Amino acid sequence: MKRITIAIDGLSSTGKSTIAKQLAKELGYAYVDTGAMYRAVTLFALRSGFFDDKKLKKSLLLKTLPNIRLKFVPNEELGYAEIYLDGENAEKQIRTMEVSSLVSTVATVSEVRQFLVSQQKQMGKDKGVVMDGRDIGTVVFPDAELKLFLTASDAKRATRRYRELLEKGDEVTYDEVLKNVQHRDFIDSTREDSPLTQADDAIRIDNSDMGLQEQFERILGLAKRVIDRSSK
Ligand code: C5P
Repeated sequence: MKRITIAIDGLSSTGKSTIAKQLAKELGYAYVDTGAMYRAVTLFALRSGFFDDKKLKKSLLLKTLPNIRLKFVPNEELGYAEIYLDGENAEKQIRTMEVSSLVSTVATVSEVRQFLVSQQKQMGKDKGVVMDGRDIGTVVFPDAELKLFLTASDAKRATRRYRELLEKGDEVTYDEVLKNVQHRDFIDSTREDSPLTQADDAIRIDNSDMGLQEQFERILGLAKRVIDRSSK
């Protein structure tokens, strides 16, 4: 069977990474969470003191950008790779509200995007990859054989995210989470470089009222059809 590239883009908190992980596991593909890369660069900037309140000191970040080492290390127990920032597992630290509130600003910086996109292209060059983000089907892999664009209502997305954060023990309010999700969508969709937009040939899936299993079966069906077609 031919191995393909699967690009999953969409609004914040639409469950892109959940479906991407399920799909990668089922197909025996690699999973790459590109949001984790933007989050890790943001964590790096925060730790380095490159934020003055919420304002990014861009020139300082650009100077050190080439030295930031990001690596995905497989976690056998979890069944997917986790992101390491300068040799340290950063999965937990990159998912705080603080990082969430700053990451979209960092993601507007073209040099940051170029730095990460070239690594993403490299990671997917041999195909057999499920990559999720905001610009995968439009910029990173415009030739991906299967492109999905996930959406859901603001309320559904915020509720899911809020529950996730509560389960992790984060002290957040629903309103904070809703505002963050809307704020990120706004910045992500209106930035100049690679704005979040649906690729012309992407399949749009609104999962507001869809169960995880239903969504998985539907998307797996789509993937299998494309793989079959590509293998002929
Ligand atoms: O996917 P996740 O919600 O973790 O992404 C965090 C942020 O990283 C997004 O809101 C967006 O600003 C940025 N991002 C991006 N391009 C990608 C992936 C993420 O700009 N391919």
